[in-house]
Amino acid sequence: MKRRALISVYDKTGVVQFAKALSERGWEIVSSSGTAKAIEEGGVEVVEVADLTGVPHMLGGRVKTLHPAISGGILARRELESDMADVDTHRIPLIDMVVCTLYPFEETVRSGGGLDELIEKIDIGGVTLLRAAAKNYRHVTVISDIADYDSIIEELDKEGDISVSTRQSLALKAFALTSGYDSAITAGLSSELGRDMEEQEEIPSDLPLNLKLAQPLRYGENPHQTAGLYLPSLSELPWKQLAGKPLSYNNILDLDGALRGMAMMQKDVGAVVLKHTTPCGMAVADTVGDAYDRAFECDSLSAYGGVVGVTRTVDLDSAKRIGEHFTEIVAAPDFDEKAVEYLEKRRPSLRLIKWNGGRVMPWQITGTWSGLLAQKDQLPPLPSPDSGEWIGPKRLDLWEDMLLAWKVACLSKSNAVAMVKDGAAVGIGMGFCSRVFAVEFAASQAGDKAKGAVMASDAFFPFADGLEKAAEAGIVAIIQPGGSVRDDEVKARAEELGISMFLSGWRTFRH
Ligand code: 5GP
Repeated sequence: MKRRALISVYDKTGVVQFAKALSERGWEIVSSSGTAKAIEEGGVEVVEVADLTGVPHMLGGRVKTLHPAISGGILARRELESDMADVDTHRIPLIDMVVCTLYPFEETVRSGGGLDELIEKIDIGGVTLLRAAAKNYRHVTVISDIADYDSIIEELDKEGDISVSTRQSLALKAFALTSGYDSAITAGLSSELGRDMEEQEEIPSDLPLNLKLAQPLRYGENPHQTAGLYLPSLSELPWKQLAGKPLSYNNILDLDGALRGMAMMQKDVGAVVLKHTTPCGMAVADTVGDAYDRAFECDSLSAYGGVVGVTRTVDLDSAKRIGEHFTEIVAAPDFDEKAVEYLEKRRPSLRLIKWNGGRVMPWQITGTWSGLLAQKDQLPPLPSPDSGEWIGPKRLDLWEDMLLAWKVACLSKSNAVAMVKDGAAVGIGMGFCSRVFAVEFAASQAGDKAKGAVMASDAFFPFADGLEKAAEAGIVAIIQPGGSVRDDEVKARAEELGISMFLSGWRTFRH
């Protein structure tokens, strides 16, 4: 009997090749409209879900695969006579494989999508497909991650079928995904609706961590410290190392900063250069090479031996520019083959990390002498010009720079301030015990470039002195959370100095 795969994917990367591979192996492909279109254009025969159910997609795409003919075809227990009689009576075609990638809810939160956009990005039908297929793993293969396409085809070729063991692993992976997806919706909606997170979410009385060693490390932060990289038992690393020496403990720590920076800049062509987990340059531009050069320029001295993250594919041109300097790691969503070849030759030790955009740990866990501290690992929502309060002139013309400064400050160790001009960081003061010192350092690094630049602060100004130092250096607009008992004094001083100030309401400490 012909096997049938239902493919409904938001991320259409590689879907045509995968559908083609299945089709060539005798599978029938059924797809929701957008996916069907992509597959058909790729020259592969496909049946639309609407043709199978007899009901068109409706409610502007809210209802696509939600139909008994689809759910029944996935959930039917093949060994149960009554189930098989039901599917027979209702002429429901059995579905043996479900391939589904969900609407990108978390990415929408991170890119500052408003409430309406967030609501539309709550995937209903896709989650139903995944959970139904995972529940019926005894008969159905569920693919929730495009990274699994190749191994599935390989297994089909080798074994003629997908083994129960693979189906079990894939089912657990799908459930892990949907549970993380629901947590992201709870967190994203609570902050968008202005509901207090603590009110919404209970602190779990225990954390079911179930960690396994993923990579033993030569040593920890220093050579006398034993160390390893651990992963939750069902998770896989969200990146692949394409070249270079093995990653060290400090490399993985610094890489974390790069991935966070890349996530925050994913809408732009951006680059971040980090040292010791904190940025020493961050910029956006039209090309990866330009963004890298501009990020590097902020503090070229500190960038030596740093970690670089870029938000688009590294091509040969950007590889050549990156290759000019001694760097420990370059992380990117992808690398052109020529770029890898070039960098492997030019810098054989350089670690190239291809990141799939995902992450494994919903909790940030820190060991202290008093116990393990755990907190939800969440990027704060991106401010928008009407999500906070403006003091003085409303410099919307500088908003993009203010946002970039805010991102740099978010990534930097507290106390942190970041100065940005024309899409590039020009001065970053971080890790200072006093905010005034942070401003002074950033201003001395920026020099003349501080004139007409904007500045972000990761926490409020407890006094007006930090603000005054910034004004002296030439800063014209500031973004900061506000919330000091002396806010009135700070606001009045900003007005006197003619500084445009935006109070975001969100503190972004990184201790
Ligand atoms: P397509 O691009 O094929 O039209 O849609 C694919 C996306 O739709 C996938 O991300 C999948 O999770 C989602 N999806 C599948 N069925 C439904 C449904 O019935 N309702 C909604 N809202 N989304 C669905």
